[in-house]
Amino acid sequence: MRIIVIGAGVLGVTTAWYLRREGHDVTVVDRATRAGEETSFANGGLLHASHAEPWNAPGILWQLLRWIGREDSPLLLRPGQIPYLLGWGTGFVRNSTRSRFERHTRVNAALAVYSLQLLRELRRDTRIRYDDAQNGILKVFDDPAALDKALHASKVTAPLGVRHSVLDTPQTVALEPALEESRDQLIGSIYYPDDESGDARLFTERLAALATDAGVTFQFGCNVERLRLEGGRVKAVETATGPLEADSYVIAAGNDSKRLARQVGVRLPIYPVKGYSATLPLEGWRNPPQIPIIDDARKVVVTLLGGRIRLAGTAEFAGYDDSLQTRRAATVLRQASGRFPSLGQHAERHEPTYWAGLRPMTMDGPPILGPSPVPNLFLNAGPGHLGWTFACGCSRIVADVISGKTPELELEGLGLHRFQSW
Ligand SMILES: Cc1cc2nc3c(=O)[nH]c(=O)nc-3n(C[C@H](O)[C@H](O)[C@H](O)COP(=O)(O)OP(=O)(O)OC[C@H]3O[C@@H](n4cnc5c(N)ncnc54)[C@H](O)[C@@H]3O)c2cc1C
Repeated sequence: MRIIVIGAGVLGVTTAWYLRREGHDVTVVDRATRAGEETSFANGGLLHASHAEPWNAPGILWQLLRWIGREDSPLLLRPGQIPYLLGWGTGFVRNSTRSRFERHTRVNAALAVYSLQLLRELRRDTRIRYDDAQNGILKVFDDPAALDKALHASKVTAPLGVRHSVLDTPQTVALEPALEESRDQLIGSIYYPDDESGDARLFTERLAALATDAGVTFQFGCNVERLRLEGGRVKAVETATGPLEADSYVIAAGNDSKRLARQVGVRLPIYPVKGYSATLPLEGWRNPPQIPIIDDARKVVVTLLGGRIRLAGTAEFAGYDDSLQTRRAATVLRQASGRFPSLGQHAERHEPTYWAGLRPMTMDGPPILGPSPVPNLFLNAGPGHLGWTFACGCSRIVADVISGKTPELELEGLGLHRFQSW
C-alpha cells in the first residue's frame, strides 16, 4: 500500500519505520528541512513509564486558578487564553475525577511499558544510539504528602509492569550522590529502574536515516496546506509544490494535527501546552546526577544526554505561541538550581541554550491512535508530555491497524471513538 505520513517528528518517523517493516511504500512529508525540528527537538529526554499520569490530576482546576497570570509559576494560565480553552479546558477538568484520572493513568502506563519494550528491541536490532542511558529515573520529594500521592500513582501502575522502590533520604543519596548538596530538603524518593533517557531529536534523525536506507522516502521543506477529500476518502494532500497522492494517510503532525484533521471534518481535542528546556555542556560541573531526576516540588527534570545537561519543565496555557520568553525559560534553570545549587554556579560560566516547545495534549491524557471517521485516514496524535516515551508504542499500534493486524495493546482508551460524545 502507498502511505503518506504527515510529520517527521518522533511519532511520524517511528510510524514510517514500522509501516515500512510491514512492506508498505511510505513517504514522509514535513515542512521542516530535517526530522525532529519541532516538539521532538529539545525535550526533557525522559522515557518514563513512571510518569504516566495525565496532567489533569484531581484538584487541577484550583491549581490552575491559583497560578493564573503568575509568570514565575511552573504552571501558568494566560488569562487571554481562557476563551480558547472553553471546549478543551472543560473536558480537561471533567476528566480530572479520581476514577477517570486513574483509568487514563493505566492506559498511559500500559502504552509506555509497551513502547519501552519496543524501543529496546529497536535498539537491539538496529544498534541505534541517541545519547541514551539505561539508568532508571529517580523522582525526588521534599513533601511527605507529595510522596504519598506519587506512591499511590505508582501502586496503580505497578501491576502494569512499572517497577518501583521507595527510598528514604540516606538511601536516595547513596544511590545518587549528587543529591548530597540538597540533602536537607529531601524527605525521600521513588526509583524506577526500568525507565530510560535519551535525546529524542538525535533518535528521530538517526531513525529517519535508517528508514531511508530501508526504502522510506522523505520530502522535507514540504508544507501540507490541506487534505483533499473525494467520495468520503482522502484523495490527496495539497502542498505548496502540488498534490501528493497515496492509498492511505497518517496525520502525525504534532500541534498541526488538529487543524489538518479539522479540514476533513475530524475533530481532535488537542491543545498545545507550552514548555521550556535549557541545555548546557556537562564539562565543568563536578558532581552531576548520573540518574535522571524528576523533581516533584519544582516541576523540573534534570537529565544527562551524552556530554550535555538537559533541564526541562513548566506548563503554560498560551495557545500556539511557541516564542521563547526569557523569563519563563529562566524558570527552568532556577528550579533546577534550587535542587542542585552547584548547577546554578555552573550555568554562570556556561550560557544555557534555551528552547520552547508545545506539547500536543489531549483533554483526557492518552494519545489518539488509529482509525478516523475517514476510512483511509489514520491518526497518531496528541501524545502530550509523553510523546518521546510513547513513540514506538503509538507508531507500532498505528502501523498494525493500517496493515490489518490486531495491535498488541487494545485500542480501547486510545482511539478517537472515546470522544464520541464530545
Ligand atoms: C519542554 C518539553 C519537555 C518534554 N519532555 C518530554 C520527556 O521528557 N519525555 C517525553 O516522553 N516527552 C516529552 N515531551 C513531549 C514530546 O516532546 C512530544 O510529545 C513529542 O515530541 C511529540 O512528537 P510528534 O512527533 O507528535 O510532534 P513533533 O515533534 O512536533 O513533530 C510534528 C512534525 O510535523 C511537522 N508538521 C506539522 N504540520 C505540518 C504540515 N502542515 N505540513 C508538513 N509538516 C508538518 C512538523 O514540522 C514536525 O516535524 C516534552 C515536550 C516539551 C515541550
